[in-house]
Amino acid sequence: MGTMTETQTLCAAKQHRCTWCWQLIAKGETYMRYRFFNGGDAGTCKMHPECYEAMEQAAQEEGGWFEWAPGMERPAPYDKAQGGAACGASPGATGSASLTGGTK
Ligand SMILES: [Zn+2]
Repeated sequence: MGTMTETQTLCAAKQHRCTWCWQLIAKGETYMRYRFFNGGDAGTCKMHPECYEAMEQAAQEEGGWFEWAPGMERPAPYDKAQGGAACGASPGATGSASLTGGTK
């Protein structure tokens, strides 16, 4: 069992690697970020929005929490298909860019 912090939707100020599919999150793309605590373990997860959704869905099917390792299948990137998930392109998400200041 573990706990996770509230998820933030952030704008990638630099390139990250998705914790779920292990593919790159490009600079300027929107990504999800949260911290988790599991026993003595703590870590930060960064994911593509579609990967985060897949993780949440899998977690729900497993009763809210499950163990997984990076390298899972990346779902279809719906943001690319719509061409609107880059941070500057979504009017409602522009304010989140300032939250990236705390990441290392
Ligand atoms: Zn991913």
